Amino acid sequence: MNTPVEARLTQLCGKSLREASNGELYQALLKLTQECSEKKVAPVKGRKLYYISAEFLIGKLLSNNLINLGLYDEIRGALSAAGKDLAELEELENEPSLGNGGLGRLAACFLDSLATLDLPGDGIGLRYHCGLFRQDLKDGFQKEHPDMWLTDTGWAQRTDTVYPVVLAGKTYNARLYRLAVTGYNGRTNTLNLFDLDTIDESIIGQGIDFDKTDIEKNLTLFLYPDDSDRAGKLLRVYQQYLMVSAGAQLILAECVARGCKYDDLAKYAAIQINDTHPSMVIPELIRLLGEHGVDFDKAVEIVTETCAYTNHTILAEALEKWPRGDLALIVPQLMPIIEKLDRLARTRTQDSSTYIIDDAGLVHMASMDIHFTHSTNGVAALHTQILKDSELSNFYRLYPEKFNNKTNGITFRRWLLECNPALASQIESLIGGGFKKDARELGKLMDYVDNDAVLAKFSSIKRDNKRALADWLYLKQGVRINPDAMFSIQSKRLHEYKRQQLNLLFLIHQYLEIKSGHLPSVPLVSIFGAKAAPAYTTAKDIIHALIALSKVIAADAQASKWMQIVFVENYNVTAAEKVIPACDLSEQISLASKEASGTGNMKFMLNGAVTLGTMDGANVEIAERVGEKNIYIFGQSSGQVIASYARGTYRARDWYDSDFNIRRAVDFLTGEEMRSAGSGESLGRLRAQLIDSDWFQTFPDFNAYVVRKTQAMQDYAADPVHWARMSLINVAKAGFFSSDRTIEEYNRDIWHLG
Ligand SMILES: *Cc1c(COP(=O)(O)O)cnc(C)c1O
Repeated sequence: MNTPVEARLTQLCGKSLREASNGELYQALLKLTQECSEKKVAPVKGRKLYYISAEFLIGKLLSNNLINLGLYDEIRGALSAAGKDLAELEELENEPSLGNGGLGRLAACFLDSLATLDLPGDGIGLRYHCGLFRQDLKDGFQKEHPDMWLTDTGWAQRTDTVYPVVLAGKTYNARLYRLAVTGYNGRTNTLNLFDLDTIDESIIGQGIDFDKTDIEKNLTLFLYPDDSDRAGKLLRVYQQYLMVSAGAQLILAECVARGCKYDDLAKYAAIQINDTHPSMVIPELIRLLGEHGVDFDKAVEIVTETCAYTNHTILAEALEKWPRGDLALIVPQLMPIIEKLDRLARTRTQDSSTYIIDDAGLVHMASMDIHFTHSTNGVAALHTQILKDSELSNFYRLYPEKFNNKTNGITFRRWLLECNPALASQIESLIGGGFKKDARELGKLMDYVDNDAVLAKFSSIKRDNKRALADWLYLKQGVRINPDAMFSIQSKRLHEYKRQQLNLLFLIHQYLEIKSGHLPSVPLVSIFGAKAAPAYTTAKDIIHALIALSKVIAADAQASKWMQIVFVENYNVTAAEKVIPACDLSEQISLASKEASGTGNMKFMLNGAVTLGTMDGANVEIAERVGEKNIYIFGQSSGQVIASYARGTYRARDWYDSDFNIRRAVDFLTGEEMRSAGSGESLGRLRAQLIDSDWFQTFPDFNAYVVRKTQAMQDYAADPVHWARMSLINVAKAGFFSSDRTIEEYNRDIWHLG
């Protein structure tokens, strides 16, 4: 029996499903999905959200869209009856390279939740041709290659809409591409992506090098082009202004088409500024409103009422500040407005730490955001508290009413239904399917904490997922891992604050313990996935050290029975979907106070991993929900860390001198074994960096980390049923971390959509 959907698919193929090639089937499914999404476009009444973000880490879309449209089972069945495999078709899809890490993935989860909750909310961003680089680890070092993900036909559709954007006095035409975002049983919204027709990939030379001054050809080539030189820094400003100017023109055009008279913009639009990259949308909107006859003071009021700002970090280097001379060069049309905003801000406060333009002539984007939007939110309870108490306390005193918390979340459609179908179906068989739209229903799983059959099934699903990951890694990278070992996974961007180096030092310690006859309680497979920013030497040295250590261990007949290190190449959403469901122990070990929220921690929890973590970001809220018996917490508190930074007395060398285990592990980095497996230069640099700086305080947490991780390994080995119970409790308590909940809070407190 042919269903209407099957019939349409066959028609789109122009031949029977059996005769069609995978490529033809993929194109037909793309078309079919787009048709179905189109039918779910709904008219907008009242306020509509525009989420502006430099990144949208959306992942592959075929399965996700089929699931959200309710077509997944039907299509998979039809394909299977014709001898075809949906998973194989998905291999033909390139993952869109439009994001870097958590911030971009958050934007993608938010779009999914907005559409699922039937809220009008579109994204605005850039259509990068090569996006973030593709990572190659073949020689033990990270090498960057352009990620040529765009194909002739894809999800984002070219439109005839073009907006002029003036950069350094020259007009560029920003072309709009539209990508349908369909919610789970929900509406279809749009991700609006801007691009220039003149981009030219052929200017890319070695690796990801290119002429950074050839704006016409390079403007949307890469996400976060290297900014270690001046041309790179300027290019980022060029990119940001292209995004916000085209975005602002789109917003005004859409609102005017719905009846907006410019002075009532806030009734039609809510704009969320995702981190500081889109901050120039504030002066740009004021400029555009001015062109339509709105005077400055009124425009400031309207824009303040329309816009809201999300802060994602307290790391000083990530809070953008642009020299006014650079802005005057690239966006001279904005400088008079930014200067007026600075003067206006100074009428509200004498506190120079909150000025927009400082004495050195730097324009502080976050300061402009806080003064001239109506809401500033942090992304986890602890993060927001730190913003109020220390990082942004001067602003909090000025505008207490603007500050609010919105703890991040993840979409359960992608991070459970799609990536872990076996677990999703077990859950459904126990508590029904209501959790797919109301994640809090996962709490009903608590009825099964003492049900041995359910716990056994949890364990067996995890074992299957671990086998599947092992197969995938063998296929992709030719490495074999032991699926019966405990899997510890740390996958996230590489940064010293996230402390992959702490995990590295543990693994060295473990190796040395094994070599001195102290065997662990269970074999451990340590899996890493991480890209390092191309100009971030220490991060690259950490990757190199992990790979060198993996070789040392693999070459040792005794140690390799007990431990194994695998570095997953080119960690992205596709890899995350394979890795996360296979995790036993989720490594969330950032230096307390430094990880604003984290969302990887939530994905792992939802897939039944137990967290080993510091009291940082959303780990705090995870711990609160699962209880201290179902999470392994260690390390300094955020209060201790903040106080220690304030004192400025931390000296890594004192720890190195006085602690045998630390010294032994650090010195191993440049010992004979490591040097024969890696580069003495890189390893030596990393060792020196740790002893001379260790800015993110690895050493003070080292012993506590060893103790807690060893405890987790013992617990895992001693009582698998107990471990499965912890795993189930983690899943049951994950409901709060659905991005549906986060979006409902944004809408209730900030956006007031529809
Ligand atoms: C979720 C996600 C992240 C963010 O991970 P954190 O642990 O929160 O830093 C980064 N990259 C990818 C591919 C992700 O899916």
